[in-house]
Amino acid sequence: MLGYLGGVNATRIAKGDANPRAVGATPAMAQWFAAKSAAGAALVFFRMGDFYELFHEDAEAASEALGIALTHRGEHQGQPIPMCGVPVHSHEAYLARLIRRGFRVAICEQTETPEQAKARKATTLNREIVRTVTPGTATEEALLDAARPAWLLAPVEGGAAWLDVTTGLFHTQASAEPAALIARLSPAEILAEEALGIEGATPSSAPRDSAVRLAAALGVGSLEGFGQFSPPEVAAACMAVEYVRAVNNGALPRLSPPVAEGARGVLLLDAATRRSLDILEAPRGASLLAAVDRTLTGAGARELAARLASPLDDLPAIRARHETVAALVEDKPRRGKLRAALKGAPDMARALARISLERFFPRDLGAIREGLQRAGLLADALTGAESALLAGAVAPLEASPNTAAELTRALAAELPARLDDGGVVAPGYDGELDALRRLRDDARGAIAAMQMDLAQAWGVAALKIRHHQQLGYLAEVPSAAGEKLLREAPARAVGELSPIHRQSMANAHRFTCAALAALDRRLAEAGEHAAKRERLIIAHLRRVILADAEPIAATAREMAALDVLSASAELATEGAWCRPALTERPDFAIEAGRHPVVEAALRRARGPQFVPNDCDLSPGRRLCLLTGPNMAGKSTWLRQNALMVILAQAGMFLPAASARIGLVDRLFSRVGAADDLAGGRSTFMVEMTETAAILNQAGPRSLVVLDEVGRGTATWDGLAIATAVLEALHDRIRCRTLFATHFHELTALSEKLPEMRLAAMQVREWRGEVVFQHSVAPGAAEKSWGVHVAKLAGVPAPVLKRAASVLASLEARAAAGADPLAAEMPLFAKAPTAPQHPVLQALAALNLDTLSPREAQDALYNLKTLAEGREAL
Ligand code: ADP
Ligand code: MG
Repeated sequence: MLGYLGGVNATRIAKGDANPRAVGATPAMAQWFAAKSAAGAALVFFRMGDFYELFHEDAEAASEALGIALTHRGEHQGQPIPMCGVPVHSHEAYLARLIRRGFRVAICEQTETPEQAKARKATTLNREIVRTVTPGTATEEALLDAARPAWLLAPVEGGAAWLDVTTGLFHTQASAEPAALIARLSPAEILAEEALGIEGATPSSAPRDSAVRLAAALGVGSLEGFGQFSPPEVAAACMAVEYVRAVNNGALPRLSPPVAEGARGVLLLDAATRRSLDILEAPRGASLLAAVDRTLTGAGARELAARLASPLDDLPAIRARHETVAALVEDKPRRGKLRAALKGAPDMARALARISLERFFPRDLGAIREGLQRAGLLADALTGAESALLAGAVAPLEASPNTAAELTRALAAELPARLDDGGVVAPGYDGELDALRRLRDDARGAIAAMQMDLAQAWGVAALKIRHHQQLGYLAEVPSAAGEKLLREAPARAVGELSPIHRQSMANAHRFTCAALAALDRRLAEAGEHAAKRERLIIAHLRRVILADAEPIAATAREMAALDVLSASAELATEGAWCRPALTERPDFAIEAGRHPVVEAALRRARGPQFVPNDCDLSPGRRLCLLTGPNMAGKSTWLRQNALMVILAQAGMFLPAASARIGLVDRLFSRVGAADDLAGGRSTFMVEMTETAAILNQAGPRSLVVLDEVGRGTATWDGLAIATAVLEALHDRIRCRTLFATHFHELTALSEKLPEMRLAAMQVREWRGEVVFQHSVAPGAAEKSWGVHVAKLAGVPAPVLKRAASVLASLEARAAAGADPLAAEMPLFAKAPTAPQHPVLQALAALNLDTLSPREAQDALYNLKTLAEGREAL
């Protein structure tokens, strides 16, 4: 089966194992070798008392990754054994660091007590790998990002499945494109057959009898009740579930029934489009998500990210969201109540996952209790709501009244950190537990009383009864008094009270007596019984919660949705955000739109404000060709209009005065390769592959945004390609298109392409300086402003002057129909000063329109070096 997993009994292996590395090992070390061979590439956290120890190569790798000391312990085959360790009580933080560094960790626990081992005359405790921790299957809070889902993605040939064990969400998709899914989901871990060649994926393969296994795992006879799944979807889903089960040593967390996602109903965004739009992630945190996120809970943040990563293409569903946001914008008191109930609400979905895996803490039980209480408050806040989504939320929010009531009665007001700490269950919930606790407390009281009795009987006023981990309760007396007691006990210290010496220390002696020992036993027993009873009650509460798992998960989803909707309303009230009108026609008309991320950045900088711009791609004017100098705001305008589609179809309001958008089925956005720093492949190849994808997939309902595509190419190739692409988009595909270019020659196409409109970023000249207006106006940019931008970047006057005259000649030549960059370069032969001077050669080689300010500055240094007669860099 899944041989790379550690879910195997290490001792069982140890018996038949003929591992040459293990020859001559001590019993404990032999166990380690067995565990290591079961764990494979995973590090083994080998439980020894209060520590997880790592040995040999694991110790070396972990000590380096964690920056902890590497020591040695004993010898194996004549060599000292490298070792390092982490305390059990704080191991989660170390685990989190190792997982983030790309390690997998197999947890090898002691599975019996020292007493049990002694009873079977074993020299070492039994140990077993109880689970393997991997990035896509961990449930510990320390290993999770509260605001992000932890998807485990399993693509196979012809389909894919993805699930989040931390919330139980489970999806499949037929004919899924792995790259697009990876871009959409940013999975924590990917499982894939090696044949698929997915980088970083955990190698895996789908079992043969997938349908039967999957149905069994989900506790049903057949999958039909959940909907229609293609064989690849079933294979992928089964592969994911089997993996989760294997890393958990056979246990499965609660999973919701898988939802088959059709390709219809969602706005399609490919990987390149997501990269260019910075939807969820962006350098310096400047993502769309970060700019629009006003959610108050981790679950809400995850839901918002999911909506932005996968906007809808389903008019009624989108309208329902807009209607709800509008209602919450209007109704400030209701919005306030909802947000008050959400603020600080616990993450029920993740607590539920930990509870289902029996890997939970008292606070997880508390999270369900408080979550359900909050859900009640939310339901109250929704009374009388008319919007369908709000009215429909009430029932799921109130679906678990009995569980809510029972947890409220059962759990103590203040919960301890760990289950073994005791005090999880509230007094008054269980009579037997209360009685056992009284016994324990009585015994404690009796011990306090005994301290006085012993002090009197032994004649030692300073006598103190203290508790010791190994020895239990002992009476401690100062040295001198202790010596006296050892020589001769007072007359009253007889029988039950006669001192029995247990320990001598530097300045004290410890004694017990028959009475104290009996009390100690009684107390230990009462404590043990109470703890045992409490464990039983906790197991009962766990069952109560799990019996209601589906409604509780649904409540959690409803709370996340309410968080997103009320946060969207909150955002909409912060500035001028409008409710978009969505239509089934190919409309696109935005009035005074803004780029939410750039606007927020400008506001933070407290400099000039963002300049709003219209955009109209209505029928008859579907294609807009935008020109303008570098830094004028072309990319910003293009992207802000693409983001309008994402926001609108995710169900949010738009940063604009008004907006009418015809539903978009696919959104494509491409940025010219010179802007794409990713590198690696030939930039031209990347650009052409990505452009080809648009020409093959876009249709009349699509929106295509092309930002200076072709600029990475030699000028005339680029121009030719750009022309052909524009014509195809205009004549054949007939989609809405925004096309920014530095090829002014393209503006001439507007005569040939009736639905193409020209737009230009407005730039003014003021006292010889360029002033960017950041506003879009009809028409083509008058001239190339590359030289002006070079000035802005600090290129000195004489160089600029010469560049301007070269430019004029080039333009004249182009106007006369000749290729201005033809081989003979007569322009430079005619240059008045030093012909063929290296400065001029370098200058002629510059393509001013594609220079970034930074590149312009580099070019300048280069020119200066050349001018000084030194070798250029
Ligand atoms: P281009 O693509 O034309 O080179 P960008 O879109 O990258 O220009 O914009 C350059 C900078 O101009 C942005 O980083 C932003 O600071 C500013 N900017 C762009 N559009 C606007 C606008 N509408 N209002 C205010 N500032 C803007
Ligand atoms: Mg740009």
